[in-house]
Amino acid sequence: MTERAEQVWRDEFERLSAKRGALAPKLVFLPTWWPGRSVAFAYFNLIAIGSGLLRAPPDVRRYLLAHELGHIERGHTLGQVGYWASVLSAVAIGQLLPPALATAPIMAVLMGAVAWLSLGETRREFEADDVAAARFGDQLVINGLNWMQARRSEAASKLSTRRLERRRAHLAASIRGI
Ligand SMILES: [Zn+2]
Repeated sequence: MTERAEQVWRDEFERLSAKRGALAPKLVFLPTWWPGRSVAFAYFNLIAIGSGLLRAPPDVRRYLLAHELGHIERGHTLGQVGYWASVLSAVAIGQLLPPALATAPIMAVLMGAVAWLSLGETRREFEADDVAAARFGDQLVINGLNWMQARRSEAASKLSTRRLERRRAHLAASIRGI
């Protein structure tokens, strides 16, 4: 049953990814023990799909693949690695600093750096959604974001709410012919 579900994803992935060769995007499935079952992400040229997404509806599957391919197409995946590395190092530095040095100004600088990098994260998510919307329309992205939002934690839902609002505004503007 799982193998069949994975095959459906592979077939759709083949249809969507035109690139061939050594650096062609590859699809991998995360094991069931992976923390966060409803995750999808791109890392270098890999697109990873969590086990909780295997039976997602066809339009959600298409949206997720188009969005993750968008990250690879726009060269985001190295930036994402840099983002997480800097979040982790900010947390590590915050914990390693002697209490006397972990003062409000220093922590403010660290948190500012994380916030600045988060802006890049937001922009990258917007761009990957733009790629998916340009290919399959705003409604597909809205459907996909809605479906994912119902499965996401509170922390992740703030950004997905912004992405939904942005996509709905784009759809409304295109209906008005702007
Ligand atoms: Zn993304």
